[in-house]
Amino acid sequence: MTQPSPADSPILPEGKPFDELGCAYKPIGATGVCGKPPTWHVMWEPSSGYNSLTCDEHMALAQRRWVYADRHPMGPDCTMPGALWEYTHRWCVIPDDHPALAVARALNGDR
Ligand SMILES: [Zn+2]
Ligand SMILES: [Zn+2]
Repeated sequence: MTQPSPADSPILPEGKPFDELGCAYKPIGATGVCGKPPTWHVMWEPSSGYNSLTCDEHMALAQRRWVYADRHPMGPDCTMPGALWEYTHRWCVIPDDHPALAVARALNGDR
């Protein structure tokens, strides 16, 4: 098991807006990403915010092959601009809509 990185992992955010992305798994050498409707949101590196969307099939592959920091099922705020990863509640949330949860996120720090 290794930590994925842009250099050695086929799971890449690709720099696209999330609303254009399905599952971001891209086999090395393939011309495009999987693109299936994503079911999981995976945090790879909390320090850099490196995260991606993954379908069930490729979540299972990721669990076998790589170490990730956290994951949660896709939620309504997961792909929204400004949403924060919420470790304790295991979802993404937009702080302006849920100020109490934003405080909870800050108190829990980087995990
Ligand atoms: Zn996939
Ligand atoms: Zn999310």
